[in-house]
Amino acid sequence: MEKTVYFIEGDGIGPEVFLAARPVLEKALEKAYQGKHKLKWVEILAGEKAYEQTGQYLPQSTLDTLAEASLAIKGPLATPVGGGFRSLNVTLRQTLDLYACIRPVRYFQGIESPLKRPDLVDMVVFRENTEDVYAGIEWEADSPEAVRLISFLKENLNVSVSDHAAVGLKPMTETGCKRLVRKAVQYAIDQGRPSVTLVHKGNIMKYTEGAFRNWGYELAREEFSGLTTSREGPDSDAQLVVIKDRIADAMFQEVLLRPEEFSVIATTNLNGDYLSDALAAQVGGLGLAPGVNMSDRLAFFEPTHGTAPAIAGKDMANPGSLILSGAMLMEHAGWGEAAVLIHRAVEKVIGGKRVTVDLASQMQGSTRVGCQEFGELVGMNL
Ligand code: NAD
Repeated sequence: MEKTVYFIEGDGIGPEVFLAARPVLEKALEKAYQGKHKLKWVEILAGEKAYEQTGQYLPQSTLDTLAEASLAIKGPLATPVGGGFRSLNVTLRQTLDLYACIRPVRYFQGIESPLKRPDLVDMVVFRENTEDVYAGIEWEADSPEAVRLISFLKENLNVSVSDHAAVGLKPMTETGCKRLVRKAVQYAIDQGRPSVTLVHKGNIMKYTEGAFRNWGYELAREEFSGLTTSREGPDSDAQLVVIKDRIADAMFQEVLLRPEEFSVIATTNLNGDYLSDALAAQVGGLGLAPGVNMSDRLAFFEPTHGTAPAIAGKDMANPGSLILSGAMLMEHAGWGEAAVLIHRAVEKVIGGKRVTVDLASQMQGSTRVGCQEFGELVGMNL
């Protein structure tokens, strides 16, 4: 079967990590399925390349193509400085309603980690991408809007807020929370994962964060009864996905102390923002972390790092994050064998301590290789 994947090379190190990663993905597919499955790569423009060719950073034609697409992958995009540009990433996420940001976090042997047992970390974070603080509704202290809102709150809702406060709103809907939890639970079922943990701060924010927790349990009962259970611990049925919840601050402790107890995590926007970076640090940093942003139609894969302008064009970048994002794409496309091959090959290369500069600086006895060479090594180990 041939599937079309739309790709945006991206800015900064984007083109060079693509150059290193794409042959790895093609070779893995060929090796796993001997030509039975293929990717058709179609380039679409965004970022500086788009600006040079069309005078726009995010041409409408790119958005139109993505609106109809089901698979896409991108390199990092720089946020143009000055001129009041919105981040292209935020625009893409909002326009395409990419409501679930999914980041797997696992350990590769040989990388330095602050944990005693980083090998026990194997989690997939589902972070809500459109609501909560990401909706970005806030007003500066003493601005006319803040003053007006504070006086409305005092007069109509009998709440006392300091006259000079900066104020923000944190909207969260049942639909928005449930569609995120639905994706996480479905993923856990499809991948044979043991649990989904709902992470929230519901002890303090009962009607937003607390509602996230309640809606999450409700969704599991309504849509996945017979496949999930909220019974945790030794009397839980091992055939069922356990739905549990943790308050965010306790969760940060528990993922350090007992990482093996957590598998899939579903959480609100801000909690997920903190937690995915903290978890990435537990396994040795953001350098290798892959990711995807999804709507109900489109899965848009991307490395989690930015454009790294200081090393762009120097063949120093680590293409690992894009390679692993490509492995997620394979798994999503139903070509899991290719994803397994890629993971094994990355493991072997890192285990052999031939790594790019970002990892070499944290690994004793390692040999530094360039971006393209790292890609070639992964390709050779497939
Ligand atoms: P960054 O991730 O580009 O860089 C942070 C540090 O990590 C730098 O020291 C960089 O050299 C290093 N680094 C990042 N990726 C690396 C890789 N693959 N290999 C080796 N080293 C790597 O973050 P930043 O400096 O905050 O952002 C730079 C630009 O990227 C900004 O314009 C920002 O808006 C953009 N950005 C884009 C995305 C995205 O497209 N998803 C994400 C983050 C930042």
